[in-house]
Amino acid sequence: MESRHLRIASLLERLSRLIANDGKHRRLKPVQWEVLRYLSRANRFSRTPTALTTFLGSTKGTVSQTLITLERNGWLAKRRGVEDKRSVSLELTAAGRELLDEDPLEGLQRAASHLDGDQQAVLEIALQRILEERLVATAGKTFGICRTCRFFEAHSPDGDPHRCALLKVSLGVPDAAQICAEHTP
Ligand code: SF4
Repeated sequence: MESRHLRIASLLERLSRLIANDGKHRRLKPVQWEVLRYLSRANRFSRTPTALTTFLGSTKGTVSQTLITLERNGWLAKRRGVEDKRSVSLELTAAGRELLDEDPLEGLQRAASHLDGDQQAVLEIALQRILEERLVATAGKTFGICRTCRFFEAHSPDGDPHRCALLKVSLGVPDAAQICAEHTP
């Protein structure tokens, strides 16, 4: 008899394929949607080509090509660092943010919203655990939400809303809800 583990893995695979195919039928490739989503959720320390490459588990070359296409279409902008001119940060443009209104992942979000609150909470925890186990097995990074990081300090001594004990910088209220390349569970 087919195990529950296999059924869960098959369901996740099927869902991934549905998402990928949905993206293909619209304006962008799946990886291009992933980049736009990532940039809309990542904090300022993580909006870099290197962090993005790690998040996607992709190669530098593939990510670079994807960024060129998105930039050429006016959906993202690259900014040089003020102090270190070699550093690059990536920002969504207004057009890129607008494009996210057509995100094919919205259909999946709608389907998830039809679960009741308890089902959503259980599913979120279960999927998070599966993801973390796979990340440990593949030496991947968590890219978790800042307020769940071990270095997140809810109160900053400088009077700012929050503080990062790792990077030793103040954090604003929106930072707490963003994902970070340095996140440590
Ligand atoms: S507290 Fe953690 S997640 Fe937040 S900015 Fe610092 S390292 Fe990143």
